[in-house]
Amino acid sequence: MKTGQINVQTENIFPIIKKFLYSDHEIFLRELVSNAVDASQKLKFLASNGEFKGELGDLKVEVILDKEEKTLTIRDRGIGMTAEEIDKYINQIAFSGAEEFVQQYKGKEGAEQIIGHFGLGFYSSFMVSDRVQIRTLSRHEGAQAVQWESNGSPEYTITEIEKEDRGTDIVMYISEDSAEFLEKARIQGILDKYCKFLPHPVIFGTKTDYVDDPNGEKDEDGKVKRVAVDVPNQVNNVSPAWTKAPVDLSEDDYNSFYRELYPMSMESPLFHIHLNVDYPFNLTGILYFPRIKENVEVQRNKINLYSNQVFITDSVEEIVPEFLTLLHGVIDSPDIPLNVSRSYLQSDGNVKKISSHITKKVADKLGEMFRNDRKDFEEKWGDLSLFVQYGMLSDDKFAEKAKKFALLTNTEGEFFTMEEYKEKIATLQTNKDEKLVILYTNAPEEQYGFVQNAKGRGYDVLHIDGPLAPHWIGRMEQTNENVTFARVDSDTLDKLIQKDEEIPSKLTKEDEEALKPLFEEVLDKQKYTVNVESMDSGDAPIIITQPEFIRRMKEQQAMGGGGFYGAFPETYNVVVNANHEKISEVLNTKTKKSKDRKVKQLTDIALLSQGMLKGEELNAFIQRSIELV
Ligand code: ADP
Repeated sequence: MKTGQINVQTENIFPIIKKFLYSDHEIFLRELVSNAVDASQKLKFLASNGEFKGELGDLKVEVILDKEEKTLTIRDRGIGMTAEEIDKYINQIAFSGAEEFVQQYKGKEGAEQIIGHFGLGFYSSFMVSDRVQIRTLSRHEGAQAVQWESNGSPEYTITEIEKEDRGTDIVMYISEDSAEFLEKARIQGILDKYCKFLPHPVIFGTKTDYVDDPNGEKDEDGKVKRVAVDVPNQVNNVSPAWTKAPVDLSEDDYNSFYRELYPMSMESPLFHIHLNVDYPFNLTGILYFPRIKENVEVQRNKINLYSNQVFITDSVEEIVPEFLTLLHGVIDSPDIPLNVSRSYLQSDGNVKKISSHITKKVADKLGEMFRNDRKDFEEKWGDLSLFVQYGMLSDDKFAEKAKKFALLTNTEGEFFTMEEYKEKIATLQTNKDEKLVILYTNAPEEQYGFVQNAKGRGYDVLHIDGPLAPHWIGRMEQTNENVTFARVDSDTLDKLIQKDEEIPSKLTKEDEEALKPLFEEVLDKQKYTVNVESMDSGDAPIIITQPEFIRRMKEQQAMGGGGFYGAFPETYNVVVNANHEKISEVLNTKTKKSKDRKVKQLTDIALLSQGMLKGEELNAFIQRSIELV
């Protein structure tokens, strides 16, 4: 037996490992299983190369949990190590600039990456173990098996041992405060998270116990058969869909891979994009479009980032633009630097290229779907619109492409691109200043009367709603010259789309002057501004509107923006239609009492049609109406 000191330039790496990697202890398993997989694949490579001539046998990597012995063992039948190799790869830790690095990262996000950064993968085992053994037999003919052992201090021992099988066992004696890693479910969970798609078979089982066959079956000698109670299971799919060529995959394959990724998901995705780039960077993956719900937050963090089929993280905000984090799926790229801070990642050239590549792919795919089968695209639009709007609002390049397929829906359920729509409404909805006025409703039921009124004039009304609607409308106005949006209930139609011709008023100036105070008397002056206007005699006698700009202020305020408008009052316009016969009737009414009564009734009807008549006022209105019957 030989003893020695692990050669590290900083005083003692173990406190560092334990301290800085606290949050992410579970990654030790990823590191060790990856090493075992690497060792196995190297052997395969050497064999195919002719450099290794022995038998390969079964190269499965095993994870063996022994609760009684309190050990967790990672076993491979890969290339193994000689004593010299252990000295070179394990004892001499390449640790240049470590202290500097540690200082820099102290307590910062991303500290967990220190391990990988220095190739300390194996040493992460000390985060969870009191002592660790490497028991290994090298592939070289006539090699002597050796055991390296250390208890986490820089001292180690190395001993010659008997070991029949080529390859390496890493035996971890799990420490008391890491007892969770002796639970089968915990280990299974970690393997599912990090190792589910490793390119090499990995099996996991608790130390297999044999018991008498519960069915009492006998063997040839007449003795009750012994059967294994815990048959180890393969934990991974070695060739997940994203590693295959799209031509080899059917729609079903893509859908079942989705289910493999998200076993809990009840819904199937809308469609997918298969990413496959090898220049100027390597990237494969499959992105799925989920059916996006109103609450976008719950859908995030569903893209998993892999590096050569090893799971790295599910927070990919730094790698893909924010709106793309609504997508689900997998990105696998060995070219994304994993061992750096998040802020560094954002400025990395490769990452930027990857990000814009994915954005482009997504836009292209949507464009292609739109061109190839517009009907189908329109059917999917309800589930896509929020995503596309989000993309257009947050990424100019995406917006540039998306304007060709972003759709508008009108209250008839018809779909248009912006260009198509502008053409459709140009003749009727251009106002006297040559501005195109797009009318919309966010609630067709509630604004029914307004919508019908607009349609009666031959105007078209879009249905625009959803959490991004106000922002998106703002963007459309900015990017389309001479286009303005107005909600149907934000003013009278004559004001919304002002034409040159004026409708003459049936009333005299004096009549109009007399009308105003009658209405002001029954309304709260702070809230309502009364105006008499000459409208079509077929329009309602009274119309209550909220100016577009006031509503937008309110909406912005509701969304948390613009503290400046914090005290922005809720104000409305009350427009009295000078040409309506009921208004003339009011003027001709003899007694003040019945005049007031009519005014009150007409005002209440207008409020009611806007859903604004509530509580006591509503009750009084109902009583009055009953009396009128
Ligand atoms: P990294 O894997 O990043 O190089 P590690 O500390 O995990 O860093 O491993 C150091 C080296 O030890 C590996 O590069 C490899 O040469 C050797 N090694 C680790 N595990 C095994 C194994 N299971 N079989 C053979 N060699 C191994």
